[in-house]
Amino acid sequence: MILARKYRPKKLNEVIGQPTVVQTLGNALTSKKLHHAYLFAGQLGAGKTSVARILAASENCSATDDVLHPCGNCELCRAVFAGTHTDVSEIDAASNAGKVEQVRELKNSANYAPMDGAKSKYYILDEAHRMSPAAEESLLKLLEEPPKRVRFILCTTEYQHMRSTIQSRCQVHEFKKIYWREIARHLEMVAKQEKLNCQPEALNLCAKIADGSMRDGLQHLEKLINFAGGQELTGKLAQEVFGTASDLVFYSLIGEIAKEGAPDATTGYKIINDLLVSGMGANQILEGISEVLRNILIGVSASACGDLILVAEEAKSRLKELLRLFKPKMQALLGVMEGLAKVRMAVEQGQTLDIALQMWFLQSIFKFQKGG
Ligand SMILES: [Zn+2]
Repeated sequence: MILARKYRPKKLNEVIGQPTVVQTLGNALTSKKLHHAYLFAGQLGAGKTSVARILAASENCSATDDVLHPCGNCELCRAVFAGTHTDVSEIDAASNAGKVEQVRELKNSANYAPMDGAKSKYYILDEAHRMSPAAEESLLKLLEEPPKRVRFILCTTEYQHMRSTIQSRCQVHEFKKIYWREIARHLEMVAKQEKLNCQPEALNLCAKIADGSMRDGLQHLEKLINFAGGQELTGKLAQEVFGTASDLVFYSLIGEIAKEGAPDATTGYKIINDLLVSGMGANQILEGISEVLRNILIGVSASACGDLILVAEEAKSRLKELLRLFKPKMQALLGVMEGLAKVRMAVEQGQTLDIALQMWFLQSIFKFQKGG
């Protein structure tokens, strides 16, 4: 976690991969038109909490009036970025504010003016979708009649599970998955600052398997540094630690079939498209997909399967998640595998791989949804 913490952005212009969010909030800051409640939605590691802290520091920094460039060094800035400033509370909604008494307490404290030199008080609620209904009710009242000089920033990985009444009281910002090249570029900068001896291939792999999360990218780099123990960080070494990026792509594709919630083929089609243009041959692609399915099949049907499955360290957590999703759906899994065998035949008979794969993917989603 050291690199992830050290290289956390401290100004809006240091935030990577979220241009729309940065521009909108930057304009609000310079025109002094910040909203009293924000809802930041997006996956872990996309920068929601960082941006929340940046807003708090930008508005409150005691060393400069330049709202786009908080100094990052005054007492207030430092406390905000360390998460210890009394006027900038960070609450894990799952554990604390989840209970209604705690939101009531928050309601009381929100009515007091900032104590420690801040112009506005901030309440940053992480995992906001996990609040209890009673706590949501309390928060809603607070959002309807917001106290003066208080801002709420609700962060959530599951926007669809937030109550619509709360959504509608907040200005919503969607944090996108960060494109791997942007993550790689940032890792390059970090490597330079840390004077690391490394090959671009190693950084690219760290970025590719980060699945759009800057924090994951930095953590991968750190893991690699620890593994290398002072040696050069080579692409080969990275592959030893993480497996190849393509392995993980196949896990992501199967993950899209088993995704919880309403069926949506968008990401799956994109992954298929990436595979097709990656230079991999049809055989390699089909083999990669079958291997993941085979691993799942063994995992859900054999009680002790440690020796039967060979997966790189990084793929293990993905496999575990897929096992959980497929366990109650053996029939669907077999159907997905049969479907893939048909793709192979169709391709051998001259059908193009892209159409065959897309059809298979779509049918697989329906098979999984039907379950059994
Ligand atoms: Zn400052």
